[in-house]
Amino acid sequence: MQQDDRRLDVKIANGWIIDGTATPRQQGDVGIRAGRVVALGDLSDWTADTTIDATAKVVAPGFIDTHGHDDLMFIEKPALDWKTSQGITSVVVGNCGVSAFPAPLPGNHAAALALLGDSPLFDSMTDYTQAVQKLSPMINVAALVGHANLRMAVMADPMATPTEEEQQAMERLLDNALTSGAVGFSTGLAYEPGCMAQPSELEGLAAVAAKHGSLHTSHIRNEGDTVEESVEEVLSVGRDSQCATLVSHHKCMLPANWGRSRHTLANIDRARAEGMEATLDIYPYSGSSTILIPERAHTIDRIRITWSEPHPECNGMDLSDVAEQWGCDRETAARKLLPAGAIYFAMDESEVHRIFSHPCCMVGSDGLPADAQPHPRLWGSFTRILGPYVREAGLMPLEQAVAKMTALPASVFGLKDRGVLQEGAWADVVVFDPETVTDCATWEQPTLPSEGVEAVFVNGVQVFPQAPAQRPGQVLNRAFAAKAKSVEQGSSSPSF
Ligand SMILES: [Zn+2]
Repeated sequence: MQQDDRRLDVKIANGWIIDGTATPRQQGDVGIRAGRVVALGDLSDWTADTTIDATAKVVAPGFIDTHGHDDLMFIEKPALDWKTSQGITSVVVGNCGVSAFPAPLPGNHAAALALLGDSPLFDSMTDYTQAVQKLSPMINVAALVGHANLRMAVMADPMATPTEEEQQAMERLLDNALTSGAVGFSTGLAYEPGCMAQPSELEGLAAVAAKHGSLHTSHIRNEGDTVEESVEEVLSVGRDSQCATLVSHHKCMLPANWGRSRHTLANIDRARAEGMEATLDIYPYSGSSTILIPERAHTIDRIRITWSEPHPECNGMDLSDVAEQWGCDRETAARKLLPAGAIYFAMDESEVHRIFSHPCCMVGSDGLPADAQPHPRLWGSFTRILGPYVREAGLMPLEQAVAKMTALPASVFGLKDRGVLQEGAWADVVVFDPETVTDCATWEQPTLPSEGVEAVFVNGVQVFPQAPAQRPGQVLNRAFAAKAKSVEQGSSSPSF
């Protein structure tokens, strides 16, 4: 090699390199030039414009958040500091059936769109991509197409059953979006209007996604009493259409259903044994969060308000306290708060541990950046995995946890040269202290940044702790078919 080639933009020196493929860490240097990782190992005779001493720190691929609702934040707040501060360098948006495109027909609306915030939506993936690129985001983004958007963009009555023409129009819209770079589509079968979908509608759309080698992700119909049937419903859509399938933020809500993930995970294993590309993700908390659903006042004891349009003074309050203050029952109070959002405390964290330990489970923050008093998962999901879940609870070796946040999602979403630290890969890199890294966001103080994340690079440009003059994020397209490999427990060999 010529001496001239031994020049780097950045050298991250003397760290423990965890490369994303679940193999044991190795000590060494990581060399970055022109946005890519160009060398790994002993780079002591390489020169660099900037050298970062990573002694005793872990150097890993930047984390891929499989489940974001940051679609419109790429327009409104492109600095995205709730992502970079926990080491996230790419996020998949467009989840739970709602996305920034295609925009609904005039007059159509869905309450779940509130998960995204209230900026105007875009007509197409192409328009969304152009708008994001124009603003230069801080991190990379890959987009799913929301099924609710497809219904609302095509059907005069999105709560009806689509006619043959409407079905074809939805499939065409999806086909166009996937051709323009969307990485798959999502359903929100628990929300209107997605809940109105019959299997044939979903299978028709999934067949389009399968043709592109992409996947469908699903916020399943019911995460409580019929969680097993609801997982089977989306697996059967995948099976019948040969489409890769991801069960989003998998959980079993309400004490009567705790433990049922044994059955749902076994079902996912059976589907995989049959050859299906089936995966799942979680966020590491025992509380969930979405729009406020007044009926839940009867089944869930503790509900905390995250935002309320008519009563912002109730943000952060427990629904019971609001009801007491207003002298009414909890459901009545909830109806008065609408439109609103809430956190529901109805999960068993030891079950979250078990689900996360499944070899095909990834991490999706499901963060809701538009909420006034958000669920702490927005700021803390990935560092909560590294600290409380891996270092403190010892759920798995750090290498395996990192693989679930990097190479595994890159393979599922077809993100080429991402999720690994190898020569030629994009230089999405996080440096963290394995002894101290942890989440700090709490239910009471949900926007506290994490500790122990020392440096984050996106496409070779450092984005944390200092923000760069020019934001380096890109819109990512699918480069290859969904490959749902797994990160096996107790195995030191890579499964990618
Ligand atoms: Zn969801």
